[in-house]
Amino acid sequence: MEIEKEVKKITLGHEIGAGAACLKCKDKCEGFELHFWRKICTNCKCGVEDHDVQLESEENKKVGKLFEDTKYTGLIAKLKRDGVPSYRGNQFTVSIPITNVSTASTFIPGSSQTASTWMPSGSSSSAHAPSGHSPSSFDRSAAGGQHPAAPSLGAGSLSAAGSGQIRVSLVAPSPKGSVTAISSGPTDPTAVPARTDVVKSVTYEWAPPGINQSLALRYMELLPPDQRPIAGTAGADYRKKQMAKQLPDHDQDPERCHELSPGEVKQMQQYVRKYKDEALGVGDITLPEEIGQQAGNGTPGAGDKGDAVATVGKSCQQCQLPMKKGEPAVFAERAGFDKLWHPSCFVCSTCTELLVDMIYFWKKGKLFCGRHYGDSEKPRCAGCDELIFSNEYTQAEEQNWHLKHFCCFDCDCVLAGETYVMEKEKPICKPCYMKNHAVRCAACQNPIEPESQRVSYGEHHWHAEAQCFQCSCCSRSLTGQRFMVLQGMLICSVECKKKISAS
Ligand SMILES: [Zn+2]
Ligand SMILES: [Zn+2]
Ligand SMILES: [Zn+2]
Ligand SMILES: [Zn+2]
Ligand SMILES: [Zn+2]
Ligand SMILES: [Zn+2]
Ligand SMILES: [Zn+2]
Ligand SMILES: [Zn+2]
Repeated sequence: MEIEKEVKKITLGHEIGAGAACLKCKDKCEGFELHFWRKICTNCKCGVEDHDVQLESEENKKVGKLFEDTKYTGLIAKLKRDGVPSYRGNQFTVSIPITNVSTASTFIPGSSQTASTWMPSGSSSSAHAPSGHSPSSFDRSAAGGQHPAAPSLGAGSLSAAGSGQIRVSLVAPSPKGSVTAISSGPTDPTAVPARTDVVKSVTYEWAPPGINQSLALRYMELLPPDQRPIAGTAGADYRKKQMAKQLPDHDQDPERCHELSPGEVKQMQQYVRKYKDEALGVGDITLPEEIGQQAGNGTPGAGDKGDAVATVGKSCQQCQLPMKKGEPAVFAERAGFDKLWHPSCFVCSTCTELLVDMIYFWKKGKLFCGRHYGDSEKPRCAGCDELIFSNEYTQAEEQNWHLKHFCCFDCDCVLAGETYVMEKEKPICKPCYMKNHAVRCAACQNPIEPESQRVSYGEHHWHAEAQCFQCSCCSRSLTGQRFMVLQGMLICSVECKKKISAS
């Protein structure tokens, strides 16, 4: 039974994303292949998140596990089949009716560009309008389709969280006019049925839970455009990358770590329990003028006095600028209700990246992402990226390593007691260095050993020995002498230069 489980786990881990193309290396990577203990591709050495892999269900399970046995279980739903907790992600759908052509045209800043991104009804793809200001992807769903348009102007309808997504849909009561505006693009104008109501939609892969739609949309507008989690845009890619980087699976799940001893597993479980109890939290959205009431100790009416007051006497914990009345602000329960952040300021104090899905770790008055909270608690192995729970580990090159993971980055041989070279901050064994990285001597053409003395001049290198570092003309040793370089050739004097030039 135990063995069966073990086999399944390893197979699954190594099947995820197998063969997927690398988005960074393109053709240079033959396809994703997980290294047996590093968390990278053996072919191109990029992470799985750099490859074209759909990690959504894996990521949802990861975050589900993170919130298991915490007060945030409301964010997860147990999968019916196997009881595995899974993050619901809070994607949702918003619909807004189009009222006239001019409204529609404000959403289509470059009609030719936008028109080409139109998706047929039912397509899950979305596109990002160049304005980045308004809900920006379009859907031609009929009003009676999957997302019935709300009749109320501007407010729209909010479908339930869960597997849905925020989708802003605009439905034109005057379809003819809207169709004209849209079909001016290069795509086939006949593709737009004249009878169909025009629906404008944008799909947010995540939105702050527990708030109304207009506040959620205002929150999105306050994020940098390239960090808004709109499906099919750079913002969605950013969220995916940060999800992998900020919340490493192997920081919470011993099964995702490589060959932990029973003692290390126990240490790790205690560590996870501790951060769930003391540090982990999810940011909430509020209005600055309301936070006093939530805390129960605010100055009464402070925010309500005088309509002209734009600020509420509170400033952002990150940028120190005032919080504006009526603008969504983030607060963190662990930090206390008196602390507020602008949505774009709710960042990790170490990497300064936007905290993905507002998931934070609070420690000593600072916000951290999961990765950097882990780094503040435990050494992290620079080889396998896991936190180190054993008492013995190696410190080399100002980094920490599992004893067995201070290995050559090229061939994985163990480097303890061996000569190694740091190449781009990665340790390389001498044979791999000589084969893959060493510079060649311009005289004898052999690679120069890492420990031997060399002379470098611009792009040229020589063994610092008489038989290599010598005049190309008269063979005089140039060690300690003045020299000049002519097309990669060493020359001792003007006389030799003349002779060489003449020949
Ligand atoms: Zn790559
Ligand atoms: Zn690769
Ligand atoms: Zn701020
Ligand atoms: Zn961070
Ligand atoms: Zn390691
Ligand atoms: Zn090697
Ligand atoms: Zn040489
Ligand atoms: Zn000479």
